[in-house]
Amino acid sequence: MPYNITKKVIEGITEKESNAKWNNLTPYRQSKFFLKSFDKKKTKQVMLQSRTTIALVAGISTGHCLLNRHLAIIRIVEDPSECGKVETSFHFIAECLMYALVRWRLQG
Ligand SMILES: [Zn+2]
Repeated sequence: MPYNITKKVIEGITEKESNAKWNNLTPYRQSKFFLKSFDKKKTKQVMLQSRTTIALVAGISTGHCLLNRHLAIIRIVEDPSECGKVETSFHFIAECLMYALVRWRLQG
């Protein structure tokens, strides 16, 4: 079998197994919300960014960032909410009314 075909078959099997393992894990709730499965194209796009941007994407997608939920977990702030709801990454990016205008401007 030619090398490139063998490589694609192995990559496909590896990706399928990795996604199955990822989907069966119970922790990592916030990460699983943003990272549904392995995506080689998206991974390459992120890895082309600066270290600062990669750190920001990793922080937001894992919940380990400067949002109040994480700051409350590591006991830097007492209240994980500013608007009355827990400030998770998803809430910050998609739900929070305090940032609705900013979201609207960024997303068009
Ligand atoms: Zn909010």
